Amino acid sequence: MHFSVLDLFTIGVGPSSSHTVGPMRAAARFVESLGDLPVTRLRCDLYGSLAATGKGHSTDTALLLGFLGHHPESVPVAEIQTLLNQIRTGGTLTLPNGRTIPFNEKADLDFKRLKPLPRHPNGMHFQALDENDTVLREDIIYSMGGGFIASEHELDHPPASSVTEIPFPYDSGAELLAHCEATGQSIAELTLANEAAFRPENETRERFDAVWAAMQECVNNGCSNEGLLPGGLKISRRAHKLHQNLCNRNEAALSDPLAVLDWVNLYALAVNEENAAGGRVVTAPTNGAAGIIPAVLHYATRFRHSPHGHPVHRFLLTAGAIATLYKKNASLSGADVGCQGEVGVACSMAAGALVEFLGGTPQQVENAAEIGMEHNLGLTCDPVGGLVQIPCIERNAMGSVKAINAARLAMTGDGSHYISLDKVIRTMLDTGRDMKSKYKETSRGGLAVNVVEC
Ligand code: SF4
Repeated sequence: MHFSVLDLFTIGVGPSSSHTVGPMRAAARFVESLGDLPVTRLRCDLYGSLAATGKGHSTDTALLLGFLGHHPESVPVAEIQTLLNQIRTGGTLTLPNGRTIPFNEKADLDFKRLKPLPRHPNGMHFQALDENDTVLREDIIYSMGGGFIASEHELDHPPASSVTEIPFPYDSGAELLAHCEATGQSIAELTLANEAAFRPENETRERFDAVWAAMQECVNNGCSNEGLLPGGLKISRRAHKLHQNLCNRNEAALSDPLAVLDWVNLYALAVNEENAAGGRVVTAPTNGAAGIIPAVLHYATRFRHSPHGHPVHRFLLTAGAIATLYKKNASLSGADVGCQGEVGVACSMAAGALVEFLGGTPQQVENAAEIGMEHNLGLTCDPVGGLVQIPCIERNAMGSVKAINAARLAMTGDGSHYISLDKVIRTMLDTGRDMKSKYKETSRGGLAVNVVEC
């Protein structure tokens, strides 16, 4: 099955692609399937990681917005609180077909904490009932990571892709490099050619421009907004002050050769603070790890020179090609493989994409992507309080700096190296499978249970 790399960069809302974006999509899809059925009650049981950390990850509010027919790409962020208040104080919700039904959130969103469903750690069981409590329609839908969803039926019978042929099909990094060697094209050029099977090139470029504009807007918002992040941790936003400090620095500060890293940190913090606050962000490839691609791309466009035309498109095309390898052969879900699948993958994507931006060879791109993941292997997911704040926000800053260093390391060589990207992806999956579930987005291990009280 072929999918577009643009599916890996959706403009949505925070704080989580698997626990917010996926559930909103699933709820909207479920209510849109109800047609004119005489529904008087809607229910959703949540299982596994969604049940364990769903409240901190705003899964409940995502489901309510989905029941209203909102989608992550278009939900009016500024009106979310009003929409939620209307449901919670009014005790009713209006379905996309115009039918208004009573809704009791406590009774009808059931977080079944200790029970995962068999096919994936992020399971949802939706039911639509009539006035006699007879089930009119039900569906089990999984949130697979990165905002992707699949019903039980779709997992058994994957839907046929509307695109059956692309010019350069690949399932592994080795196959991708073989296409590059055979054609003399870069990974970005091959990916752009593959995208032409989905839509005309000008449309692909326009959509990448929209993604980049949304990333820039997110950084700007993160630099402007102040105050405490939502949730019980009382974490203050840092990006605003850091931005002011960086803008007011005197010339002497420029003698620090690593001063540019402060800007990289700023970009990542700004995005992930917006994400934690439920703002508009680009999933890249998840929301928890949404800061790394924009941070490295801001660094590249502001501080580095690219020898290519359309360097931002090349960066995003390459990042998307690398993410495709992880999606096909491992996982993009912290609930499935730990934070390796989120921050690790974003670091790998950004490292390879930066090499492409800087004019490196496909072999150097593959090398950088491999380094980016190799040094994130074993990274657990242990969000404190079930919120996408600690360690997530800072972890994006660290992942961004690591990606830049991975690109630098790869650019010092000729692309030949010992461990291939395919091998490190396989190792990431194996490590994730061996990881105890308490380290996979359940907030039952790691930092989530060992925070020292001051
Ligand atoms: S620790 Fe990593 S995987 Fe877990 S919620 Fe935070 S960013 Fe996502």
